[in-house]
Amino acid sequence: MATERTLSIIKPDATRRNLTGKINAKFEEAGLRIIAQKRIHLTKAQAGKFYEVHKERPFYDELCEFMASAPVVVQVLEGEGAIVKNREVMGATNPADAAPGTIRAEFAQSVGENSVHGSDAPETAAAEIAFYFSGLELVG
Ligand code: UDP
Ligand code: MG
Repeated sequence: MATERTLSIIKPDATRRNLTGKINAKFEEAGLRIIAQKRIHLTKAQAGKFYEVHKERPFYDELCEFMASAPVVVQVLEGEGAIVKNREVMGATNPADAAPGTIRAEFAQSVGENSVHGSDAPETAAAEIAFYFSGLELVG
C-alpha cells in the first residue's frame, strides 16, 4: 500500500479536556506520523466552509457552532494507507458504535462532540489538507 497523507482535526471537546497528547499518542502508536500540526481557533464561517459538504444536514449549524467554540488542532498524518488507518484509529462517528481502544470509544462525548475529524478518501484528504496548510508547511 502507498504512503498517504490525511487531514486530522482534534476537535474542541478534546482540546478543552487537554487530550491533545493522548490522542496524538494513538496516532503514533498506529504508525501514523504527524508531519504538520497547528492549533487554531476557527470562526463559525470558517467551520461552515470546511463542512460545506454537510450544509443540508440537520446537524450542520450545531456542528459549525461546536467547531468554533474552542481551539482545534489541525494536523497532517502520513503513513502507509494513512486515510483508512486513521479512520480505524478514530472509530465510528457515534462513540456508542466505536470499537474498543479507538479514540472515539475512549474520548468522545457524543455523536457530535466526537473528539476527532479524519478525511474519508484521497480526494477529500488532498482538498482538506490544502484548506489548512500551504505546501511550505508540509516538510514530511
Ligand atoms: N455529526 C453530528 N450528528 C450526526 C452525524 C454527524 O453532529 O448525526 C457531526 C460529527 O461531529 C461528525 C461530523 O458531523 O464527526 C461529520 O459527520 P460525518 O458523517 O462526516 O462523520 P465522520 O466522518 O466525522 O465520522
Ligand atoms: Mg466525514
